[in-house]
Amino acid sequence: MSSVIIKGLYKKYENGTVAVSNFNADISEKEFFVILGPSGCGKSTLIRMIAGLEDITEGDILINDISVHSVPPKSRGVALVLKNQTLYPNMSVYENLEFGLRLRKIPKEEIERRIEQVVGILDIGAILDRKTAALSGGQRLRIAMGRAIVQDPKVFLLDEPLLNLDAKLRALMRSELKTLHRTLGKTVIYVTHDQAEAMELGSRILVMRNGSVQQTGTYQELYDSPVNLFVAKFIGSPQMNTCEAELFSNEGRLWLRFGKGYEIALPDTPDTAGLIKYSGKKLLMGIRPTDILLVSGNEEKDHSAISMTVESVELLGTHVNLRLSGEGVGFMVSSPITTRAKAGDDLKVYLNSEKIHIFDSDSERRIN
Ligand code: ADP
Repeated sequence: MSSVIIKGLYKKYENGTVAVSNFNADISEKEFFVILGPSGCGKSTLIRMIAGLEDITEGDILINDISVHSVPPKSRGVALVLKNQTLYPNMSVYENLEFGLRLRKIPKEEIERRIEQVVGILDIGAILDRKTAALSGGQRLRIAMGRAIVQDPKVFLLDEPLLNLDAKLRALMRSELKTLHRTLGKTVIYVTHDQAEAMELGSRILVMRNGSVQQTGTYQELYDSPVNLFVAKFIGSPQMNTCEAELFSNEGRLWLRFGKGYEIALPDTPDTAGLIKYSGKKLLMGIRPTDILLVSGNEEKDHSAISMTVESVELLGTHVNLRLSGEGVGFMVSSPITTRAKAGDDLKVYLNSEKIHIFDSDSERRIN
């Protein structure tokens, strides 16, 4: 069942800025749905429209099948947690949790019941009497989540809640949020610019750019089959390598030519055969750093091994990233930690032709 449906949403601010445009999404009940995009792409505007803090210029949002046009913000069944969550500094944690409920004239016993439940879920019993000004970043976020949970919303709207935490705490709170989602069993719409958060938290991810939807899918779908160059480069770290390329056919096979004269045969499949119409057109070729393999010894795979030089090596805990340069082309390659290559080495690499992505340079859409 759908929890939130967004239909043809459009938002133009009074100063003429179009923040959201032709935006569609269908978010299932109990889903952890992540909206991922760079800063300024319209994520906050979108979430504020769902919450009712921002007017909708055109289009509609349905929450549990009811159009928000007819529902005031406080009756939408949503709770919003923001990146710069302001707690009332002079109130205790308990008072912060009960404040919104008292405003809504919820009976005292019900308030006590809800707070008791949240204290158990968030493990904040020891700090209930503390003033919130004295809390750590992680504790403040827990209280902000607590304030949202006591409202018993159908949908949680989280706008970059981890933005101001340090890296270690961010990782911890990510896993806490995941557990919390499982415990509560509610729909979460989570906005972030951080693909690591999106990957860990989202059951599905919607990639947004300049106010509009680029692609919606699981992390794996976005990683394996990006619809365009933007999604291809936004998802995956290190980024997908791209370079200009040209298609041509030779001896019944389709080939890509890139750099200064490198050539690679594409897989002999019906899908690939359909690409022949792009012969001679300006294209971009993309390959992920993990899909380029260093060729060891005399092993020559598919005759497509090419010579490159190591520019730099970055040692990471589990693997190494090598920056390679060749004739008119540079690639980043991720290799196992056992790789012994060092800067200045000449070596041969093999591009996995089954993992090559091809984009039309004009529309930037993926064509294979
Ligand atoms: P994000 O959350 O992805 O960083 P925002 O929704 O905050 O993006 O902003 C999207 C665009 O709308 C930006 O160009 C921003 O400058 C603009 N914008 C945001 N709020 C307002 C406003 N109140 N008035 C005019 N323009 C705004």
